[in-house]
Amino acid sequence: MKLHEYQSKQIFQKYMIPIPSGRVASSSGEARQIAEELGGRVVVKAQVLITGRGKAGGIRLAKSAREAEELAAAILGMEIKGLPVRKVLIDETVNIQKELYLSVVHDRSLRKPVMITSFAGGVNIEEVARTTPEKIIKIPIDPLLGLRDYQARDMAAAIDLPRELWKSFIDIAHGLWNVFNDFDATLAEVNPLVITSDQKLVAIDGKMSIDENSLFRHPEMTDYRNLDGESAVDIEARKFGLSYIKMDGNVGCLVNGAGLAMATMDIIHILGGVPANFLDIGGGASAERVSAALKIILMDSSVRSILINIFGGITRCDEVARGILTAIRDVPTNVPIITRLAGTNSEEGTGLLKESNLLAANSISEAVRMAIAAAEGTA
Ligand code: GDP
Ligand code: MN
Repeated sequence: MKLHEYQSKQIFQKYMIPIPSGRVASSSGEARQIAEELGGRVVVKAQVLITGRGKAGGIRLAKSAREAEELAAAILGMEIKGLPVRKVLIDETVNIQKELYLSVVHDRSLRKPVMITSFAGGVNIEEVARTTPEKIIKIPIDPLLGLRDYQARDMAAAIDLPRELWKSFIDIAHGLWNVFNDFDATLAEVNPLVITSDQKLVAIDGKMSIDENSLFRHPEMTDYRNLDGESAVDIEARKFGLSYIKMDGNVGCLVNGAGLAMATMDIIHILGGVPANFLDIGGGASAERVSAALKIILMDSSVRSILINIFGGITRCDEVARGILTAIRDVPTNVPIITRLAGTNSEEGTGLLKESNLLAANSISEAVRMAIAAAEGTA
């Protein structure tokens, strides 16, 4: 789950990372009022969950509150890379002398978090990392020990930071590590961390991603969820507790259990087809959840056939069948649906589906062959 810049910066501030004064606005009038409070010279920043807002025209400097109002009106009407801008952050401007980079992420090959810093921060950091990787400094952090003071000092030295800024840099590095750790983040980033013309360090941009699996430990984070950045399908899937991942193929899959779902996708591949999605309805799914799952698959226009593969244990096949019938009643479709129901109450389930024009199969391989043939239009 990604947080907006203004949300990340609110968190950074609680961890003693200096940020510019500012507030978020949802209308140009509000933007004007905030700009007035800040003295007129402000930066107006689109709050959208993508990188490169600056290059896309979503970050503009205003010299007066009136100009801030105009720029806010323009930016609030924008779509940046397909995402509508619903809020703008109005921050006091900062006189930038130099742009640094500082972040914490997990390094999978090291199996540890790493703190990354560079004296070449700013909007071209990806380019810097690609063309001059020696300018990027990475320090692995032992999660049990946390960031050590000497590590923060080593980083300050490695980026040639002026001595008078070391204390501030070390405090910011500790703050960012603590943010990363306390919030179960997968990313905590300040880019740029600027040296101002009056020789202070300020985080003028902030980015955080939080591991969704940890959200139960952070109930306060539910207010931070940004539905704008998620597709309708993802929102719907979460609402019903379904694990849904869109793939490139045309055979929709509705399966109970992650293991069986993966095996089903493998079999589709082995027999020459390509799955359109991974979808695990979980154990003991109700008819309501099954119906929601089938509707989600039907929202994908690249789906040419649907394979429903159920191995009933806790899950009851009759309950699954009721869900299927509800879905095809609510959302009539011409997409061929192939069902393979085995295990608990399979006979009742199959019986319930007899009246519908779904295709029943007796084994996984038969079901997969039928689904692939139907997707290719040769059934
Ligand atoms: P991003 O493009 O989404 O990463 O947005 P940033 O918040 O990082 O802003 C992009 C760039 O805009 C920064 O690297 C700065 O060069 C510039 N910028 C942002 N805020 C200010 C500001 O207050 N004053 C000045 N002069 N430039 C700013
Ligand atoms: Mn940035």
